[in-house]
Amino acid sequence: MEQRRKRELPSRPVENPGPDNGAPERRGSDPSGTLGSLSPSRAGDFRTCPLLYRFRTIDRLPEPPSPAAVRGTLVHKVLEDLFDLPPDQRTPDRAAGMVEAAWQHVLAVEPGAAAMFPDAVSELTGWLDSCRAVLARYFTLEDPRRLEPAERELYVETVLDNGLLLRGFVDRLDVASDGAVRVVDYKTGRSPHEAFEAKAMFQMRFYALVIWRARGVLPAVLRLIYLGNGEMVSYQPDERDLLATERLVSAVWEAIRRATESGDWRPRRSRLCEWCSFQAYCPEFGGTPPPLPSATLSASPDVPAG
Ligand code: SF4
Repeated sequence: MEQRRKRELPSRPVENPGPDNGAPERRGSDPSGTLGSLSPSRAGDFRTCPLLYRFRTIDRLPEPPSPAAVRGTLVHKVLEDLFDLPPDQRTPDRAAGMVEAAWQHVLAVEPGAAAMFPDAVSELTGWLDSCRAVLARYFTLEDPRRLEPAERELYVETVLDNGLLLRGFVDRLDVASDGAVRVVDYKTGRSPHEAFEAKAMFQMRFYALVIWRARGVLPAVLRLIYLGNGEMVSYQPDERDLLATERLVSAVWEAIRRATESGDWRPRRSRLCEWCSFQAYCPEFGGTPPPLPSATLSASPDVPAG
């Protein structure tokens, strides 16, 4: 079950994971009868901190756009559009020249992004230059003139045997002449410390699982491209990996279901709190969470239900 669909904004937070497309995570009233739905971002939120998951998915508290997150959105837009050009035009200069149009696109979809630079035009200019620097780094890692992606910004979904709908957006899918599939994800930040690498690879295994279940083809390579420091990490998954990922994702969903039933959304303090938009509501930082939306208490279709 796949379709190509433009990602809605805000789409690509970088250091701190944010809403992927704002869609409800539960499909309890969906005629397809799915148990609920989970994206890698939301599963990652819950694994990072159950209270973070609650704030994003159930309370839907607003998060101000950050320069790092919007840079990610803009760079993804340029890298997506770059492959619309004839191969010989996919050059660093051409990509740099696409930044201004991509910024206008971002503003059209999310006008609030303009508020990131309220004081000085030079701030915006500097930020746009930082986007160009990130794009220039891309060309040190890959030569897009020699690539013809099968898909870009591909929406993928599949329903597991237990009724859980998994879904997400894949940045790029390459298919070799022998049918081998490579899943590619761009990160505009730096490659993480080893201790955090598993988190990024969890997202890739999640996509691989969805593609495997939906297409019946086990992706040969999962590739993370870190444009912040010019590193690529590749991994070859096997069936055992993806079956373990399926068990993990199902366990995360079960934990979310239990938290919804009990109302126990525990904060889990970590270094990632530094990038959390919700410290003012978090007991770990002296805040008080808002009352749970009444829809949650009556198990509305927008939240996980027991
Ligand atoms: S500040 Fe930290 S503990 Fe609090 S909600 Fe955010 S991630 Fe969780």
